[in-house]
Amino acid sequence: MPTPETQSAWNPTSWREKIAAHQTVYEDREAVARAVEKLGGFPPLVTSGEIEHLKANLAEAQEGRRFVLQGGDCAERLDDCRPQVIANKLKILLQMSLVLVHGLRQPVVRIGRFAGQYAKPRSSPTETRDGVTLPSYFGDLVNRWDFDEASRRPDPHLMVRGYQHAAVTLNFIRSLIDGGFADLHHPERWDLSFLDHDSMDERARARYQAMASELSGAITFMEALGDKTVDDLTRVDFFTSHEGLNLLYESAQTRTVPRREGYYNLTTHFPWIGERTRDLNGAHVEYFRGIRNPVGVKVGPKTAPADVLALIEALNPTDEPGKLALIHRMGAKDVRTALPPLLEAVHKSGKRVLWLCDPMHGNTVGTASGIKTRNFDDILAEITGAFDAHDEAGTRLGGVHFELTGEDVTECVGGATDVTEDTLHTNYVSQCDPRLNYHQGLQMAFLIAERGRG
Ligand code: PEP
Ligand code: MN
Repeated sequence: MPTPETQSAWNPTSWREKIAAHQTVYEDREAVARAVEKLGGFPPLVTSGEIEHLKANLAEAQEGRRFVLQGGDCAERLDDCRPQVIANKLKILLQMSLVLVHGLRQPVVRIGRFAGQYAKPRSSPTETRDGVTLPSYFGDLVNRWDFDEASRRPDPHLMVRGYQHAAVTLNFIRSLIDGGFADLHHPERWDLSFLDHDSMDERARARYQAMASELSGAITFMEALGDKTVDDLTRVDFFTSHEGLNLLYESAQTRTVPRREGYYNLTTHFPWIGERTRDLNGAHVEYFRGIRNPVGVKVGPKTAPADVLALIEALNPTDEPGKLALIHRMGAKDVRTALPPLLEAVHKSGKRVLWLCDPMHGNTVGTASGIKTRNFDDILAEITGAFDAHDEAGTRLGGVHFELTGEDVTECVGGATDVTEDTLHTNYVSQCDPRLNYHQGLQMAFLIAERGRG
């Protein structure tokens, strides 16, 4: 835990004194310095006002008055900075959020895992194929996917390219939202064809259809009453988030802002620390403890209650509302045993945290033919288990964090459209973890809405 002296010694680059896990070793230090300087000189991607607005929303989610939907790719790719891909991602998140608003009878805070989700921690620093060993792929912020020496060499200029692509992505998202994308509020215009799939049982089909038509009716009715009312139900605020892994990138855009106290990371509204980099004495916790943004920390099944309490103390010593989200990712198998001790310890401490469930990262499995996948039923079981554990502990599950895409990919098995191990290869696109596709995402939202309604 940082002592009062180290607390006061924080600055945007004080993390450099600590050990940083999963950082890139660049050969050309001068090129790194040039890239960092360039990044620091760019206009910010987000503003401190938006960041504070999100923090206030998260504070309400913490108190049970909002629900958070966070989602997007495991690893965003520069090549996916294309209008259709971005619009489809926004579309699935928006549609899921409306199902949740309707089912949970609560406003939903929408947070994309986009416009900067370009850096990845890897289990091994190198990868070997056919006897050739090269650096692993660390995300498009660091190196390229192609398996050749030049592509895999970490390139500092990719940080600049990443930032520029994040800016273009966000620009398009902001325009879609401002310019009538809200049309997609209307369920009668959604693709609900998964409801007709053979594997969908009759009763579930009828329930989802009823929910979709109630939702349509409610929106039409509210629209008829005028803008202000419909605004409350369907107001589209979108926030961005990414894993704050590459601290060179994060700290380059960490600044003070006129008429506000403290430093803001202006590359994103809501950065989080990954499960592999949340060492209390490491560089990531050091960097994150000094910024004013709301921050997340992933916690896995091996996390000790004492570690969680120490993380809370380090990252939110003043117990500021909406400041800290703990994103548990236990796996369906472990959620009912690994989560309760953490919930109880935090509950007993009286500290404020927002609990989010990432039902993806504890449920990754390899198929017999070596493909990484996740089972729709395991993902759902983890969410259900998390709701139950929170109910029993007297705490609140404030939201969910998915890896998903708006495309029709075949990366996770199960769900109504019935992707199986045998059909995974049909359209498996992810270069990292498997994502829910459009139909799986929407179906998941219906299921959570039902569970949340009780
Ligand atoms: C991720 O969110 O893609 C990730 C690497 O998760 P975790 O830190 O939970 O392993
Ligand atoms: Mn992932």
